This record gives sequence, structure tokens and C-alpha cells, in this order.
Amino acid sequence: MSSKSDSADKERECKRRKKNLESWKRNKTKDDRTHGKRYLNTRGNVVEPKTITDFNDNCCETFSIEERRVILSQLLNMNSKNEQDIYLMGLMEIVPIKRRRTTINAQVKKVTFHYYVLKESKRMRVCKKVFLYLH
Ligand SMILES: [Zn+2]
Repeated sequence: MSSKSDSADKERECKRRKKNLESWKRNKTKDDRTHGKRYLNTRGNVVEPKTITDFNDNCCETFSIEERRVILSQLLNMNSKNEQDIYLMGLMEIVPIKRRRTTINAQVKKVTFHYYVLKESKRMRVCKKVFLYLH
């Protein structure tokens, strides 16, 4: 007799579950992304984790794959994107650019960034390119 309302209830229940699953998937994606695992993007495509690729740089000391893995894992082991941001900010330094001539524009302070990498808990200065490759 009440079969119609029963099925309506079921449908509602089903929708609610689907909604929960969707939000769980979203959170999981966020988490996986923070920790550098492969994840599904909003289009449902699999995005491969950041891999350690070869790069050439002739201005900085080179890093072995193992060193790079350690550096990257320091970042990926953090609990949130926010913590990662704070960590990265701590490795950047704002430095005013020294100018040779005093011009009208001199009061406009130009700045540049210095980038550092933590290697065996020592801060090492690297160029931006290397900094971005390592993190
Ligand atoms: Zn460099």
C-alpha cells in the first residue's frame, strides 16, 4: 500500500548517500593533492603526482635524486596546504635591490626574492628555477 512512498524514501536516502560520497571524494582529492599523491581533478582526470625530473642548472649546486626526494618529502609530509605555504614562505627572503644611481625613481623600492632550500637542515641559497624544481 505504501510502496510508492517507500521507494521515494529510498530515492532520497540514495541521493543523500551520493552527496556524502561526493564531498568525501572532494576532501580526499584535496588531501591527496597536498600529499603529492595522484588525484582526480574536477574534470575527473587522473593527475599524476609531482615527479622528480631531471633538470639542468649551472648556477647552483646540484642535488641528487635522493636529496631531492628528501626535500620534496619535507613539504609533502605537512598536514595542510596552509602549512606548506608557511614552510615555503620561510624559505623565501625579500631583498631590496641595490641601485647604482640615485634617480627620481629611487624612492620606489624595488625588491627581489632570495630562495633557499633546506638541505640536511641547512639553508642553501638557490635560484628561483631550482627552488621551483625542488618543491
Ligand atoms: Zn641555479
